[in-house]
Amino acid sequence: MPKDLIDLASLGAAGIERILERARELRQLPRAERERLCAGRELVHLFLEPSTRTRISFELAARRVGARVIDFDGDASSLRKGESLSDTIRTIEAMEVDGFVLRHGEDDMPRQVAEIAAGAVINAGAGTTAHPTQGLLDRLTLEEELGDLAGRRIAIVGDVRHSRVAASDVVALSLAGAQVHLVAPPELQRESVPDGVERGAELDPLLPELDAIVMLRIQRERIREEVSLDLDGFVERYQLHAERLGRMPDGAVVLHPGPMNRGVEISDAVADGPRSRIHDQVRHGVEVRAAVLEHCLDGPR
Ligand code: ASP
Repeated sequence: MPKDLIDLASLGAAGIERILERARELRQLPRAERERLCAGRELVHLFLEPSTRTRISFELAARRVGARVIDFDGDASSLRKGESLSDTIRTIEAMEVDGFVLRHGEDDMPRQVAEIAAGAVINAGAGTTAHPTQGLLDRLTLEEELGDLAGRRIAIVGDVRHSRVAASDVVALSLAGAQVHLVAPPELQRESVPDGVERGAELDPLLPELDAIVMLRIQRERIREEVSLDLDGFVERYQLHAERLGRMPDGAVVLHPGPMNRGVEISDAVADGPRSRIHDQVRHGVEVRAAVLEHCLDGPR
């Protein structure tokens, strides 16, 4: 049976651990064996919002487990002729595909598509609520670096309100027992958070206690309400630059899901410096997505 991946809360603590364990195992598997895992499976990529990393990462992950990808170009499709997304999904389903990888601006769209589609539906980032594979790859990156995350202090800093990465990281890291702090000015802070997650507006007092920091860009395309943002004030209070990084413990590491706005939430020196794990995140993204595809696609055809 194909399985969906809509959000991490539904996957649960045990499901998350299984996928991360499998992602690590796949590293050791001989290529020919790996490419048999989902051999003959056919996936349709529906990226209806811009994406660089996630799209290429899913494409590479599919190749690594032997699945084929058909890339749907929304701008050149019947969506532009007024066809609804549900009719598009039903049409593609009738061609007997095994699954969809969906990126969409609306929070609930992956769940709605999963209700229509018989094949697997994998959320590759939706609205402001969930980016499950980013949560998984961030947790894998931090576990590789810090080991067991129980009791570790991790800050997620910047526009947490509009960030689906923050939403999925909170679930992935809290379930690992980490103490997560969401740090943002009030206008970019989340209105509610799961029990145990701390919220605050001050970054500086936290720095000496942090094991890791995840920096987020300001998601301008998602800011719909009247947010009056003082950009200079944001840079002044939150930008992670060398001097702030110097106030963190020696082993602390820096993550960023990309795309970065250099000079805003992160400085060049930090982004390209020795404590940055940004390229590890990208590498782990392919590993985690290969494990997700294996989990969701239910073996070779
Ligand atoms: N690439 C991530 C996302 O799709 C982060 C971002 O866009 O800021 O949510």
